[in-house]
Amino acid sequence: LLFCLVASGRAADYAKYKDPKQPVSVRVKDLLSRMTLAEKIGQMTQIERENATADALAKYFIGSVLSGGGSVPAPQASAEAWASMVNEMQKGALSTRLGIPIIYGIDAVHGHNNVYKATIFPHNVGLGATRDPMLVKRIGEATALEVRATGIPYVFAPCVAVCRDPRWGRCYESYSEDPAVVQSMTSLISGLQGDAPANFVGRPYVGGSKKVAACAKHYVGDGGTFMGINENNTIIDTHGLMTIHMPPYYNAIIRGVSTVMVSYSSWNGVKMHANHFLVTDFLKNKLKFRGFVISDWEGIDRITTPPHANYSYSIEAGVGAGIDMIHRIHRRSHCPSSEQGHPMSRIDDAVYRILRVKFTMGLFENPYADASLAGELGKQEHRELAREAVRKSLVLLKNGKSSYSPLLPLPKKAGKILVAGSHADNLGFQCGGWTITWQGQGGNDVTAGTTILSAIKATVDPSTTVVYSESPESTVLGDKYDYAIVVVGEPPYAETFGDNLNLTIPAPGPSVIQSVCKSVKCVVVLISGRPLVVEPYIGAMDAFVAAWLPGSEGQGVADVLFGDYGFSGKLSRTWFKSADQLPMNVGDKHYDPLFPFGFGLTTKGKM
Ligand code: BGC
Repeated sequence: LLFCLVASGRAADYAKYKDPKQPVSVRVKDLLSRMTLAEKIGQMTQIERENATADALAKYFIGSVLSGGGSVPAPQASAEAWASMVNEMQKGALSTRLGIPIIYGIDAVHGHNNVYKATIFPHNVGLGATRDPMLVKRIGEATALEVRATGIPYVFAPCVAVCRDPRWGRCYESYSEDPAVVQSMTSLISGLQGDAPANFVGRPYVGGSKKVAACAKHYVGDGGTFMGINENNTIIDTHGLMTIHMPPYYNAIIRGVSTVMVSYSSWNGVKMHANHFLVTDFLKNKLKFRGFVISDWEGIDRITTPPHANYSYSIEAGVGAGIDMIHRIHRRSHCPSSEQGHPMSRIDDAVYRILRVKFTMGLFENPYADASLAGELGKQEHRELAREAVRKSLVLLKNGKSSYSPLLPLPKKAGKILVAGSHADNLGFQCGGWTITWQGQGGNDVTAGTTILSAIKATVDPSTTVVYSESPESTVLGDKYDYAIVVVGEPPYAETFGDNLNLTIPAPGPSVIQSVCKSVKCVVVLISGRPLVVEPYIGAMDAFVAAWLPGSEGQGVADVLFGDYGFSGKLSRTWFKSADQLPMNVGDKHYDPLFPFGFGLTTKGKM
């Protein structure tokens, strides 16, 4: 109905909001005063890329477009193709009466993981193990450039979840089970957006057209759900919520984060998307967050669920709770709100916040992609940075059958090395979920990069023979090897698809470990988004390395295995013995891990 309202009136030649010399607050107020209700509601709406034709954007005054997990253009689209797609949409938005640019958002959660040949950094669980916030900040800087190279000004990162239960399928998106580690890694925000001036506290900050707006997600308590079930209920008292799950948001706000995304999960039975106390009273009023609050993907729809789904109730509850921008699937409706239910002041507050971000980041002045950035995507300097991150993220958990006989580092002149396991030569497995596709199941062709096998081959002395067998039969094992490197782990997954109650190493991983380690001196490298059950096999291994989800630069693994660099990573999570112990986090009364939080052996070598 609202969209029947026809925008009327002609913009005067001089409009304060168009004048970059005016302060942001003056520009926002001026523009807001000119907007019709339909334009305001459009501004509060975010739609999918597939539905964002220039016509639809102009007709409904849409404020934002996203590539949700599965919604990227042709997987191998170039940076230029992406940029021209976004530019086309921008033209549609700018052709409207008031010419308000859209803000295009994307899940660039470990580098610009949506684009073929982009640099894929380790997932957050590995970055947490580096304990190196400055490294993470540099990753933010590189990611901003790669994302901007495709014409996109906004990323749905970082995930600042404090994952308390690794059975959760999103555990790898969390830096740590420890709030302090997650707090320190909000440095990503400063890398993505630039360093906010001190007097910016609470205000969104984006330092120009080579930076992107960030999004702290998922507010709040997403990492504390019952049994790690995705989008479930986080049962915890206020003190627990405030001391475990809330702290990263303080840091995010101090760093000038532009947006906060609300969690699908509930807190003590109340959906976060409808939680007025936490979104409005606490985040906006108490913490003085002045950017905009965005719903998760159809998060408003999930406030009520079938058979009792009721969208008009949900939209009232969600916008009433304080959500400013609403993701909505085009085919159902563009309309996030109704005239009933919300006082104009709530709608104006939402639009004010969205426009403030757009003006602050210079979108009105620079709405189009900067063609000079095209060379940033996957450039060598960024790959070197990712390789460094891989090296620092590796956690050495066992080295030698006794401390007097360390196995690592391996010599480069090693005679004959057997490399085994499903994850040794599979870039898709190395990168994990959120890589080109939502679930990340692209196999070795997923994108450009170096597998661990090819990295090993490139690192050893030319006199060393490297034999690869994914699952070696006894005939292969009958050969004589000096060393074996077994690389096994989890297949890629994202969100609910990764929820897992037993956390065992998927077959045939355990049997490959057992058969190889029985016959050859072996180092086992585990590729996974979380600790897995290794206790039954740890005795058979000579060395054990947690490599997490290292991303496109497998060379970082070989750099450390062969001693060019030393191991330095520390567990950012508790390594349990069996899944029956979960949830178990550092500080718990009955803490009885296989390897405690913070554990990690070192070896000699550069750091
Ligand atoms: C996820 C978010 C993501 C959004 C947009 C949702 O399913 O929960 O983390 O940012 O999709 O793709």
